[in-house]
Amino acid sequence: AEEALRQSQKMEAVGQLTGGIAHDFNNLLTIIIGSIETATRRLDPEVDPRLRRSLENATKGAERAAALTHRLLAFSRRQPLRPRTTDVPRLLAGMSDLLTRTITESIAVAIDTPEELWKVEVDPNQLENAILNLAVNARDAMPQGGELTIRAHQQVIGPQNAEGLAPGDYVAISVIDNGSGMSTDTLARVFDPFFTTKEVGKGTGLGLSMVYGFVRQSGGGVTIDSELDKGTTVTLLLARANDSEQIETAPKTEAAKHGT
Ligand code: ADP
Repeated sequence: AEEALRQSQKMEAVGQLTGGIAHDFNNLLTIIIGSIETATRRLDPEVDPRLRRSLENATKGAERAAALTHRLLAFSRRQPLRPRTTDVPRLLAGMSDLLTRTITESIAVAIDTPEELWKVEVDPNQLENAILNLAVNARDAMPQGGELTIRAHQQVIGPQNAEGLAPGDYVAISVIDNGSGMSTDTLARVFDPFFTTKEVGKGTGLGLSMVYGFVRQSGGGVTIDSELDKGTTVTLLLARANDSEQIETAPKTEAAKHGT
């Protein structure tokens, strides 16, 4: 729990700092892009084509930088959560098209969930975003192709669990790949904002820290199992919604046995 608090304070501080810097950068980039545009328009048609190409490259670079600042701004202005009673199997089924479009052909995507699962109390849009983030990470870890499986099941969490979660009923959503896996050094830093092993322009290092922030804020937890050259499993644990169906006579452990 202490670690979670430290992490959320870090996120908060990074968010504020990033928001400020991204905002200023964005203004400067607008000036740069505008000036290049004006200069290009005023170019003599006879001018050396290399000059025109240089200006085009400058614009492209500045536009990429602007796209990055927009992502940073979106990160710092994280939207307020709108938790709703959410049906995970339905949410996953609804994502199937988006997933196959995002994931390359060489990767087989499988969604493996029972038809019925306990409902969870989360912001469904942000949950979709989180799962998409994990799927993109899985894709990036399998440049040679592989298998991406999204699995969901019910889980009862007892007191004194490693994640510092409140004991109770949870739904676990795992995003599983058989890609590169992570070294222990990488694994120790994956939740740090801006930690990335991807090349510049490809990764911001914000994916997992955003996923972590969202899930913790929703009262859940994130666990990662990873082995180099074997693959990675990222699991989101989301608390069961307090819906009417939860009023049961059977003790919780019994309910779990029936559910799984
Ligand atoms: P980004 O994807 O922009 O790098 P993330 O916070 O999502 O940011 O991920 C941080 C780092 O964690 C990645 O750069 C990568 O090294 C590692 N990582 C995340 N997911 C996986 C995965 N499924 N397999 C292997 N490495 C991963």
